[in-house]
Amino acid sequence: MTEPTELLARRTVLGPAYRLFYDEPLLPVRGEDVWLEDADGRRYLDAYNNVPVVGHGNARVVQAMAAQAATLCTHTRYLHPAILDYADALLAHFPPDLNRLMLACTGSEANDLALRMAQAVSGGQGIVVTHHAYHGVTQLLAQTSPSLAAVAPFVRTVPPPMVGEGETVAIAARRWEDQVAQAFADLQAAAVRPCALLVDTVFASDGIFPPAHGLLSGGAAAARAAGAVVIADEVQAGFGRLGADWWGFARTGLAPDIVTMGKPMGNGYPMAGVVATAAVVDAFAATGRYFNTFGGNPVAAAVGMAVLQELEQRRLPERAETTGQLLAAEWAHALPALGVAGIRGHGLYWGITVAEHGAAHSSTRASRVANHMRQHGVLISHSGPQGNVLKIRPPLTFGTEHVPILLDALVQALRQT
Ligand code: PMP
Repeated sequence: MTEPTELLARRTVLGPAYRLFYDEPLLPVRGEDVWLEDADGRRYLDAYNNVPVVGHGNARVVQAMAAQAATLCTHTRYLHPAILDYADALLAHFPPDLNRLMLACTGSEANDLALRMAQAVSGGQGIVVTHHAYHGVTQLLAQTSPSLAAVAPFVRTVPPPMVGEGETVAIAARRWEDQVAQAFADLQAAAVRPCALLVDTVFASDGIFPPAHGLLSGGAAAARAAGAVVIADEVQAGFGRLGADWWGFARTGLAPDIVTMGKPMGNGYPMAGVVATAAVVDAFAATGRYFNTFGGNPVAAAVGMAVLQELEQRRLPERAETTGQLLAAEWAHALPALGVAGIRGHGLYWGITVAEHGAAHSSTRASRVANHMRQHGVLISHSGPQGNVLKIRPPLTFGTEHVPILLDALVQALRQT
């Protein structure tokens, strides 16, 4: 068995742009449900990974993948029933007007396609995103991802919508509406025609702010008044992550024109998609064509269907809702005395802002907490603009039986950092 130290020494071949998690990087060799196992046979509770939404090594998904791969794997220029069956099954989880599906392999590709659609519909180029958003790796998306790089001249940023202490949702929603309207006005003043309001509906990179019901609707209206379309990026929030509503946009009562999704869609098999109204897809097709070599091939369709069946039949989004309620109660009981400055979340997506202790910067403490937990067998991470938000986002098979293990490791880590 290759040792972690040996692999670390060999990693120069990948170059310096890559980053590993943890002071002592992990070498997992096996995954099963919510558990990862390292080379020494030590098990870690995975409270971080959202891609294996129906669990690591899910038997139904693996069997569907293997059976279809052994039968046929082509592309989307031949007829195949599986892609149509998958489209019907997925679209059943969307409002009736969002009734077209186009498939890709990564969230970045999905967002890129969504922006091409938005350009076709609006005739514009101007995009509004939140201050610390992340939307993908392509040249265009890097330039619309302020958490990654400087934004392009045709991009403006607004704060993530937040309900302040003692404030009503209506007041916060009105403030965000004004900020979005101002951002589009600013683009127009620079002779940039509005194209899209692009929002991650859980505001993950902004520090995890699952929006209250109604918080985004005014901003969406302001975008449409400026001639832009509304894109909900569900790459993080989608597929039941935030509980029984299935989608972040549904939970907050937003009516997007375009929805993008990825990460958990194939439980690890690279799958992503764009769901949009017929009008949007028709406008795009009038000016552009689309072919994605791997996106939506028969194996992807089989895998995607298996993921949906697991989510539906095991009622995992509903279970995430219930487990999330237990977590909320446990956090409220255990954490306030332990130097925590804010707890936000719903379902199985939680952000916990760690307060500074003494002279140390809080991001160092958040990092120490994540490292401490890793040493004690529980995997989480930390993010946000200052890196001081603990990020807890397990597979949706994480149940109430796993809560005490997570909580115990978190409390110990907060006590000792
Ligand atoms: N949008 C959001 C909100 C994301 O979190 C990510 C990935 N972190 C992406 C888009 C890009 O997805 P991918 O890495 O699959 O290209």
